Amino acid sequence: MALRAAASPAPYNGAMSSHPSPLIITADFVLPMAAPGIVKGAIAWEHNRIMAMGPADDVLPRYSGAIVRHYPHHVILPALVNTHTHLELSYLTNRIAPPGDFGQWAAACMRAAPPPEQLISIVSKSAQWGATMCQTSGVLAVGDVSRHYTVTRPILERAGLQGVGFAEVMAIGGRRSSLREQLQRLCAPADADLINIKSGVSPHAPYTVEGPALRDTVEMARARHMPICMHVAELAEESEFLANISGMLAGPWRPDHALLDAAIPRGAHGPIQWAKQFGLLDAGVPVVLAHVNYATDADLDLLAAAPDVSVAYCPRTRSYFGHDDHSRHRWRDMLARGINVAIGTDSVASNPDLSVLRELRHIMKLFPESDPQLLLKMATVNGARALGLPSFAGTLQIGGPAEMAVFALPERPFRSVASACRALIRRAPPPDTVYLTRPVTPSAH
Ligand SMILES: [Zn+2]
Repeated sequence: MALRAAASPAPYNGAMSSHPSPLIITADFVLPMAAPGIVKGAIAWEHNRIMAMGPADDVLPRYSGAIVRHYPHHVILPALVNTHTHLELSYLTNRIAPPGDFGQWAAACMRAAPPPEQLISIVSKSAQWGATMCQTSGVLAVGDVSRHYTVTRPILERAGLQGVGFAEVMAIGGRRSSLREQLQRLCAPADADLINIKSGVSPHAPYTVEGPALRDTVEMARARHMPICMHVAELAEESEFLANISGMLAGPWRPDHALLDAAIPRGAHGPIQWAKQFGLLDAGVPVVLAHVNYATDADLDLLAAAPDVSVAYCPRTRSYFGHDDHSRHRWRDMLARGINVAIGTDSVASNPDLSVLRELRHIMKLFPESDPQLLLKMATVNGARALGLPSFAGTLQIGGPAEMAVFALPERPFRSVASACRALIRRAPPPDTVYLTRPVTPSAH
C-alpha cells in the first residue's frame, strides 16, 4: 500500500493502520506544540500512532524500511482547531455585506435564509462545504454550532472532522416554554453511532436565552457531560439589553420582538456576571464563551476562577463588526490571568473564509508584537482543551495520533523556530497536505 497522505479536501480514511512498516515525514520545522519546535525534524508513525519524533538525523536511521516523504521548506503542525464556527451557514459565503449594526446583519442573514422546502438540502450541502473549507485550510477539529444538528453532526463525522456539534437553543420571553421540548430533543440518542463528533449544547446568547433557561440548560449539560458554547459579551449592547430589555438587541429586527416581556429577569452587571449568576461559569463541563469582545477586569477575574471555561477569540469577525474601532480584544490579559484562549472563525456570514491561520495573520496585524508560537498554540492545543477533546488532540506526541498539516514556508533560510512561525503566519497559506490517520465513519452513500 502506498503512502496515502490525503491532500485536502478528501481525507485519508484510516486504512493506514494496516501498513506493515512505519511512515515518516520530514520537514525543516516540526512544531509539536506540547514540546519545543524541532529544526530539521521527522515524525514516524504506524497503526495511527506516532512512534518517534525528533531530529531527522536521529529518527531516520531507526526505520530503515520505512516509506519516507520529505518536505523541504515546510513546517509540520498538528491539525488546526477551529473552536467556534457555524458550518451550516456556509451558503452565506460572500452574501452578507458589512452591516451598520448587528441588527441589520442579523436581518440580512434571515432574509438570505433558504425557503422551508429547501432548508435541509441547503443546510446539508453547507455543512459539507464548510467541512471541506476546514480541511483545505488545515483544520480537522471544530466547535460547530448548529440549529439542524441532527443533520450536520453526521455530515461532519463522515467528512473526517472531530470535535463538538453544539445544538443551538433559544428560550426567552414568550418562547421560554419551548425550552423543555428543545432540551428533550437534543437529549435523544440519535447520535449514538458518532465517534468523533461529540454532542454539545449552545444556549445562543444573553439576548436570546433568559437566565433561568440558561440555568436549566447548564444543568442538563452537566448531567449529560455535554460541552457548552455560548456567545457572551460579543456585543457592547448586551449590557443594556440585560439591564432593561431595551436597546438595539431588543429592536424590531427580532422576529420575536413582540414576545419580549416583563418576566425576563434583569441583570445589572453585564453578560459575564450574568453568566456567572446563572451557572454557566460553574457548569462542570467544558464551556466555550464565543467572542468575549467586552470584558472588565472584574469579568476577567471571574473567568480566571473558572477552570473549565475558555474564550474563543474570533479576530476577523470582531473586526467585521467594527469592535476593533472602539477597543482592543483583551486576549493577552486573559492569557496572563491563566484563562484558556482559543481561535474561532465564526461563520462565513461575517468572515470571507474559515482559515484559522488567516485569523492568526489578522491578530499579527492588530498586535504586531505577538509571539507567533503562542498564536499557533491558541489555534491548536488551546482549541482542543476548550472543546474537551481527547488527550493528545492539538498536539504531536509519541503515542498520539498523527493528525498533521504540512505548510510551505518561503524558500529562504530561517534562523529560528520563531522566525519560521512568524513567516508562516504572515503568509497563511493553505496546507500542502493534511494527514488524517484516525478511523472515520464510512459514508452511508
Ligand atoms: Zn457564532
